[in-house]
Amino acid sequence: MAEKPQPVEVLYCAVCGLPAEYCEFGSEFEKCKPWLIQNAPDLYPDLLKDSNGKEADKVSDQLQSTSISEGSSTSKQEEVKRLPGGKIKKKERQEIVIEKVTRNRRKSITTIKGLDLFGVKLSDASKKLGKKFATGASVVKGPTEKEQIDVQGDISYDIVDFITETWRDVPASAVFFIEDGKKVPAV
Ligand SMILES: [Zn+2]
Repeated sequence: MAEKPQPVEVLYCAVCGLPAEYCEFGSEFEKCKPWLIQNAPDLYPDLLKDSNGKEADKVSDQLQSTSISEGSSTSKQEEVKRLPGGKIKKKERQEIVIEKVTRNRRKSITTIKGLDLFGVKLSDASKKLGKKFATGASVVKGPTEKEQIDVQGDISYDIVDFITETWRDVPASAVFFIEDGKKVPAV
């Protein structure tokens, strides 16, 4: 068999001092491995594979944990998006939800959601509410992109009467308040 002409340079292992290709026969092969991976990967392809495998494991672990946390945040977002969307498709329950929101301790806002489900034009309703309660009222997009009416000040005590008197199609039984995070019937 014709011997391949070897390059004159012999790579000596910096750990055990043997030519790198003999490291595996030396007594310190384990210690040599990191150096070999760095400096003589061609001589020990298996070594490289092993270490890549470990690295790959680490990476895939990281990927997994990342995708788990990403996954959960995505599903949360989807929940928020799906809830109202799903309800609309099925047949949205006709109800009006009123919530008093306090901002900056003093400033109260009363939000009214759902008037549009009774065929009420929100911009009209907003004007009427502002006039009736002599305050600012505006149509804004709520957290789920649905439009709601924000009325400045706490009008939650008079609002039910006003709604049922102004829009006769709205029964008082369809009006709810959010109190301490719970939805309670207004009547
Ligand atoms: Zn060595």
